[in-house]
Amino acid sequence: MSKSLQAIRGMNDILPEQTPLWRFFEAKVARLLDNYGYKQIRMPIVEFTELFKRSIGEVTDIVEKEMYTFEDRNGDSLTLRPEGTAACVRAVLEHGITGGGQVQKLWYVGPMFRHERPQKGRYRQFHQVGVEVFNLDGPDIDAELIVLTWRLWGELGIRDAVKLELNSLGTSEARARYRNALVHYLTSRLSELDEDSQRRLKSNPLRVLDTKNADTQAVLVDAPKLVDYLDEESRVHFEGLKARLDAAGIPYVINPKLVRGLDYYSKTVFEWVTDKLGAQGTVCAGGRYDGLVEQMGGKPTSGVGFAMGIERLILMLETLEQIPQEISRQVDVYLCAFGEAAELAALALSERVRDQLPSLRLQVNAGAGSFKSQFKKADKSGALYALILGDDELAQQVVGVKPLRGQGEQQTIAWDALSEHLATCVVQG
Ligand code: ATP
Ligand code: MG
Repeated sequence: MSKSLQAIRGMNDILPEQTPLWRFFEAKVARLLDNYGYKQIRMPIVEFTELFKRSIGEVTDIVEKEMYTFEDRNGDSLTLRPEGTAACVRAVLEHGITGGGQVQKLWYVGPMFRHERPQKGRYRQFHQVGVEVFNLDGPDIDAELIVLTWRLWGELGIRDAVKLELNSLGTSEARARYRNALVHYLTSRLSELDEDSQRRLKSNPLRVLDTKNADTQAVLVDAPKLVDYLDEESRVHFEGLKARLDAAGIPYVINPKLVRGLDYYSKTVFEWVTDKLGAQGTVCAGGRYDGLVEQMGGKPTSGVGFAMGIERLILMLETLEQIPQEISRQVDVYLCAFGEAAELAALALSERVRDQLPSLRLQVNAGAGSFKSQFKKADKSGALYALILGDDELAQQVVGVKPLRGQGEQQTIAWDALSEHLATCVVQG
């Protein structure tokens, strides 16, 4: 195929055989968030570039080298969203829905875009579920966010494969004091740092902690620790969070080097990591960003949230073979009709059955075909039963109901009794 007719590298089609698992996952998340009292918000996929520069920070991987930025026909600089928090904050400010201390517990799902090197678990278009909470500043809500993700891992059957890492970044003043100490230490060992870290030491020193370079990591072992510089308020907040996680029975490890790639965090930061996906081990990450709303022109408003990467979670479900039974079958009943007159009757009959059994997944054969070919399609569809309507059945106003998965003999059922019959043997819930 010519190059122009291929999808862009790192941007994937999600094919029909994969969508059932995606829909299962998305439905689970949506129900869970509904049940915890979170409301969905939908933001545009494109925003002014300035929004991301102001919120994420100029000296971050995302803004420096990962954004899809272009000029539109008016000459405005626009960017495909690389994450959801910035747009969510923009939206709540624009519509005034966090004003006067109004609490908002929000979530969204959708594609994000980052120009990264594509590999397993890392793509240029990927999907996140994000949650953002505004105007609640206590550790109770930080804990709730973690508790609900823990529940999700349980429902997905992947709890044993993920680990919670926690840290506190403190207030911006505490971070500034720590930054000085860190810069002092790293400067004394400058020659041992990799090139990228040397550059970051000047532009955004905390990001050196995030390095994946082994030599620099070795230097960091003896570096000053952020926890030792925490202000009293952040320390109490962090203790409150830990006490709640202990009460909920959620295991965690403190990772003093966890700083997250985005500039807007303060106090709590956390990541759910796994060793099942190779290098792309973080499946969900978030934290508190109490200064962000003000930084973006709003009144002081606390915020806390997280985002999970759907592709990585789908990969985990596949790797751990946690694909639920219920998505393996897409069709309950497959109706085969032979000849024009039977097809007409089948159409009327199938619509009547659909009226009476709205949850029945009934597929009607299309494209006619011999008994053998229709039967093959019925079997391949995964249906539990084939319905057979030929000239004889038409004359007697009945259908043959043939079990396809070895559940007994074929039966003959009158049209009038068909829905009731199917209700007993197919439709549950
Ligand atoms: P990483 O360190 O893996 O690059 P990040 O810190 O850049 O992650 P966040 O911005 O916190 O990621 O995004 C939250 C989650 O979204 C990540 O934990 C991950 O699960 C997912 N994610 C981020 N970037 C990608 C990507 N390029 N492809 C697939 N999933 C991604
Ligand atoms: Mg990244």
